[in-house]
Amino acid sequence: MKMYDVTSSIYKGMTVYKNKPEKQPKVNRVTNGYVTETRLELDVHTGTHIDAPLHMKVDGETFESISLDSLVGDCKVFDLTQVKDGVTKADLEGFDIQKDDFVLLKTKNSFEESFDFDFVYLAADGAEYLAEIGVRGIGIDALGVERSQEGHPTHKTLFAHDIIIIEGLRLKDVEPKSYFMVAAPIKLVGTDASPARVLLFEDMNITF
Ligand SMILES: [Zn+2]
Repeated sequence: MKMYDVTSSIYKGMTVYKNKPEKQPKVNRVTNGYVTETRLELDVHTGTHIDAPLHMKVDGETFESISLDSLVGDCKVFDLTQVKDGVTKADLEGFDIQKDDFVLLKTKNSFEESFDFDFVYLAADGAEYLAEIGVRGIGIDALGVERSQEGHPTHKTLFAHDIIIIEGLRLKDVEPKSYFMVAAPIKLVGTDASPARVLLFEDMNITF
């Protein structure tokens, strides 16, 4: 069994959405000489994280509505590293995507460390295509599943179909194929997202 950690590291100076300084984590370490305690102030959309419907819907459900059952299980990584802009229906049609799949999109974003304002995202018709198939969730290696599309159609389509959205994955070292995924968010209540540790396991022979 091999394990891949596909999570972004969280630290002061890390890559944040649109390089906005207010999105940087605040790490305040205090010590009295022998006891050290750190206070961490974090945007819930920092690094690798999972969005809740409230993020894009005023009366949307908050983070605790996302069941851990849907975050642990098989997933499929697809190679979309040739895509330059949005991942469209046409880009996805050639892949074996089935109902209830958890789909991870590996794009050129995984090979860039700094924030790219032209990052690859999931286009509206790509989101509609995945919603039609009935996937369980989608993960992308961008800090946003869409850039700043007018009206946020990608988020809205995915949330309307109860599709889980993981953003900020790091998939550079992961071959496109099937894995067993454990996406473990912080157990936050009442928020619109939560940072998560996401692990992919290869050749795992466990039956539940
Ligand atoms: Zn987010």
